Amino acid sequence: MNRNLRIRPNILRMSGYVPGEQPKFADIVKLNTNENPYPPSPEVKKALAGFDYSRLDRYPDPVGQALRETIAKEHGVSPDQIILANGSDDTLTMVSRVFADETHGIAFPVPTYSLYKTLCELQNAPAFEVPSNADFEFPDDFEEKTAGASIAIIARPNSPTGNIYPRERMERLCRDFKGAVMIDEAYADFASDSCMELVKKYDNLIVSRTFSKSRALAGLRFGYAVSSPFIIEQMMKAKDSYNVSMLTQTLALAAFRDKAYLAETTSKIKEGRARLVKELRAMGFRTIPSETNFVFAAPPAGNGAEYFAFLRERAIVVRYFKAESTRSYVRITVGLPEEIGRLLDATRVFLKK
Ligand SMILES: *Cc1c(COP(=O)(O)O)cnc(C)c1O
Repeated sequence: MNRNLRIRPNILRMSGYVPGEQPKFADIVKLNTNENPYPPSPEVKKALAGFDYSRLDRYPDPVGQALRETIAKEHGVSPDQIILANGSDDTLTMVSRVFADETHGIAFPVPTYSLYKTLCELQNAPAFEVPSNADFEFPDDFEEKTAGASIAIIARPNSPTGNIYPRERMERLCRDFKGAVMIDEAYADFASDSCMELVKKYDNLIVSRTFSKSRALAGLRFGYAVSSPFIIEQMMKAKDSYNVSMLTQTLALAAFRDKAYLAETTSKIKEGRARLVKELRAMGFRTIPSETNFVFAAPPAGNGAEYFAFLRERAIVVRYFKAESTRSYVRITVGLPEEIGRLLDATRVFLKK
């Protein structure tokens, strides 16, 4: 190893974020990364077909003003309260650059989305990880245990567990936390409520959304955040100059406008979720109440790792998290009805072994 490279020691120490796999084998039932089983809105297809490729010789609008204005209107805020991003992961990167340094880190309950920890490692910032209880509820002592953090990041609904914390608890956090609060609403379209309205009341709150899950556009890479004009101004300084491509801005606008398609596909996924939960529970599984497009479920014997491996041998790929608090569970994305059927059939065979 070249000792003169001067790579930052925190980078050498870290292993980097590990995305869920994108397996290539044939006839696979892919239920491991919470993608949408339905295609994106047909309006996206039209916008793509109508896109004039010759425009790509110019840079895109660096802030995406047309899209910002449309999104702002929908949420009843002003355009300077919106920032566009190359997916939620990009929003999270901007936020970590703005708030996290060697002394003031990021606070979050665990288990949660593992990227939050990775961002701390990248910034060489302390991670304030507060364990949830066995039901994965929001920790009562969260504020007490995170006094040195400059930002709290809360996935609501949470992943990999699927549950949603009470909104009143989030409001208390916004009030009491000495710093900013980011609520990562990657799954909000599948949930019964959202914290978006609280942005108008708390100027330290950032709410982020993504088109990867409910809008079926994980491959496009688009998300946005809503906050106070002051926080958005700081995030603008921390973003990559042209972080959302011209094509992405065009397609995201088409998708955002098609509310009917969102409602239709989301409701089908919620039906699939209800069926999956009902059938798994009938087979003795423990499931966590889900407000997302996935179900966190533990087989009756608590042998999550074996169940994961059994499904995988049958080309059904779900996600397994080997940490102490999550090891008896697997996370199952709600797929098409026939995919749910195949998973349930394989599960019956697993339980008879
Ligand atoms: C999927 C997910 C994201 C990442 O979304 P992208 O927009 O695809 O980057 C962010 N947060 C949570 C909690 C997620 O589950």
